[in-house]
Amino acid sequence: MKKRMIFLGPPGSGKGTQAGKVAESLEIPHIDTGSMLREEIVAGTEEGKIAEQYINQGQLAPASLVIQIIKNRLSRPDTQNGFILDGFPRSLEQAEGLDKILKEINEQIDFVFNIDLNERILIDRMAYRRSCQSCGQKYNLKFNPPRVDNTCNICENELTQRADDNEETATKRILTYKKETEPLIKYYTDKGLIINIDGDREIYNIFNEIMEILGLKTSSL
Ligand code: AMP
Repeated sequence: MKKRMIFLGPPGSGKGTQAGKVAESLEIPHIDTGSMLREEIVAGTEEGKIAEQYINQGQLAPASLVIQIIKNRLSRPDTQNGFILDGFPRSLEQAEGLDKILKEINEQIDFVFNIDLNERILIDRMAYRRSCQSCGQKYNLKFNPPRVDNTCNICENELTQRADDNEETATKRILTYKKETEPLIKYYTDKGLIINIDGDREIYNIFNEIMEILGLKTSSL
């Protein structure tokens, strides 16, 4: 059965990690607006230049910009068998924009996973978060450190920290989440789509729970 999902949750909740793992298992695209915006910044596009100002302040990029990015992405044929939206929608305006796009392309959302975590843990997780600048592998210096200091286990390149993962911007991002994104929990609860997931557990346990809810056994994957 086709699976079209949204992963909701505060920054640092691990929703990106879970979205990536589930997308890989189901062989469906992992559509992550944060990474897409960072790619625009690196490519030096107009969209990237606009987004960068907001990202560095821990604020949301303009809804019109991200809605357009999602519209383009969902029109690609690889979404035929399903997709995961990670970090989108992030406001009521975006959720309504998504509803409009889905109606146009005759699609719908089947599951909204809300991964939640205590605020104190969130800031800690973001501050220790690193990724490989070459292969993108993610680490956490406290919970999932590399074998050799600051070096990727897979390709041995240097690890970097996202500019917006410093404590000041991370705190602002949590405030933005509370104000703009948290209302989406009610929005999708009212649509009967929310599934609450406790994010304060081992990555594998959370993944197993999600796969079970999706009706898929992880042992065979
Ligand atoms: P993330 O990688 O999901 O933590 O996103 C990093 C930053 O990108 C956020 O703090 C926002 O500034 C921006 N961003 C990502 N997704 C969206 C979105 N759907 N709407 C607006 N801004 C976004």
